[in-house]
Amino acid sequence: MSVVRLITNGARCQFQRAYSSSAPTTKMFIDGKFVESKTSDFIDLHDPATNEVITRVPKCTQSEMQEAVDSAKRAYETWGKTTPLSRQQIMFKFQAIIKDNIGEIAKNITKEQGKTLIDAEGDVLRGLQVVEHSCSIPSLQMGETVPNVARDMDTYSLILPLGVTAGIAPFNFPAMIPLWMFPMAMTCGNTMVVKPSERVPGATMMLMEMLNEAGCPPGVVNVIHGAHDAVNFICDNPTIKAVSFVGSDQAGKYIYERAGRNGKRVQCNMGAKNHGVVMADANKENTLNQLAGAAFGAAGQRCMALSTAVFVGEANKWIPDLVERAKQLKVNAGHVPGADLGPVISQQSKKRIHDLVESGIKAGAKCVLDGRNITVPGYENGYFVGPTILTDVKPDMECYKQDIFGPVLVCLSVDTIDEAIQLINNNPYGNGTAVFTTNGATARKFVNEIDVGNVGVNVPIPVPLPMFSFTGTRGSFLGDHHFYGKQGFKFYTQTKTVTQLWRESDVTHSKAAVAMPTMK
Ligand code: NAD
Repeated sequence: MSVVRLITNGARCQFQRAYSSSAPTTKMFIDGKFVESKTSDFIDLHDPATNEVITRVPKCTQSEMQEAVDSAKRAYETWGKTTPLSRQQIMFKFQAIIKDNIGEIAKNITKEQGKTLIDAEGDVLRGLQVVEHSCSIPSLQMGETVPNVARDMDTYSLILPLGVTAGIAPFNFPAMIPLWMFPMAMTCGNTMVVKPSERVPGATMMLMEMLNEAGCPPGVVNVIHGAHDAVNFICDNPTIKAVSFVGSDQAGKYIYERAGRNGKRVQCNMGAKNHGVVMADANKENTLNQLAGAAFGAAGQRCMALSTAVFVGEANKWIPDLVERAKQLKVNAGHVPGADLGPVISQQSKKRIHDLVESGIKAGAKCVLDGRNITVPGYENGYFVGPTILTDVKPDMECYKQDIFGPVLVCLSVDTIDEAIQLINNNPYGNGTAVFTTNGATARKFVNEIDVGNVGVNVPIPVPLPMFSFTGTRGSFLGDHHFYGKQGFKFYTQTKTVTQLWRESDVTHSKAAVAMPTMK
């Protein structure tokens, strides 16, 4: 893989990846340079719409990964001491360059990940918002001061970076999730080693080209590639002080345990099973449109997808209308105009989705819309699954218990809002949820009683803007501080508290004071 900069008609630089046969591999980004890995071990990256191999992603060698950490360590020595305003200036430039290139990054995302172009633009934009928020970090870096804590004595706190940090990202948001990580980490004064998902490294590589263009010094952000070995390297490397992870439960629990055992600060955003509760008093048109969009958009591969609908009382009479809406969604390659959902990420993922649907049917669920045997003309080798709806689902079925991560909506029916709340609170995940109602008291009760971190009221995908934090809880999160916002800032910083005594004429003590100072 190579990132090529094109100057077009005197317009500002554009960035585009070249997938020519002469450059079939994805490079690393170390010390401000794109470097070819010397490994002989590569992971083929397939276009999910065609199954063609579009690049080969290296499993970087141990010495290459160590080089990336050494570069980040060297860079930290100066970057950690730069003024907050000079870091901010780089972020302003970075912001402007990303903004000018949203379309180019989106094309790459569609090619590698499969989502539709318009959805891919949203992926970039939601990450860009975190870059924009990072520009306000200098004001968060102000410490606290109490003068005269004792006679002639003052105490103040300094908010400081941690050093070298690392980010490990999933496949489903190739731009947004790396952008949750390195812009905040670096604006706080840290350096970072990023390991993008081996299934979608291209957007991260384009962002690195843009960081260079913005004037970011070499080594502040480095990118390595690989799978388990790269993750183990990050968890074990003594120079790395903190690890940000987003991905599956299996990897998240493992990373939290392994990196934590090595004394690192860790934040892990993991799986989800997001329930949308539909009350019979809801605005039917809006609710069904929102439900269909949030269940099937991005082929259901969003951590905030509404993958479970809970119909309360008479609301379950709306299911046939929901099916009609889902049928209207167009499945196609992500770059084809008019496509509503593209392929899922891999053949294995498609099979897993099929198997979970089948297990639901075997356990007694009804498949009222079956997208399993869909073919897309011109893209017969793609990993497509059409919108699928299972009704009569029960909480003990695998299709309910597992994070399907595909365009499958499982539907349950309950009699009361209390039952809906209990169902959701009994589910191990706490990522996102939404209630659809026109009754303020119902909405208020839901917000107060639900044990989930991101809650929507008539909002299907309540991903908070970056002045807030992304606050998934329970089985969806491990750690103390969440991603972005004030919590993200806290994750990437530490506090030093200084107590100082300055006295014009010092009193000479006749004897050492051995009692605990009470600062009176
Ligand atoms: P994944 O866990 O397979 O991969 C994420 C990262 O971990 C990758 O960089 C990968 O190389 C590494 N990895 C994978 N398996 C590993 C293992 N066994 N040990 C160590 N490292 C491993 O996740 P994915 O399939 O890329 O992403 C989808 C998952 O991410 C879904 O479960 C989704 O719910 C979750 N997700 C959560 C959020 C959130 O904010 N809660 C956001 C996006 C995605």
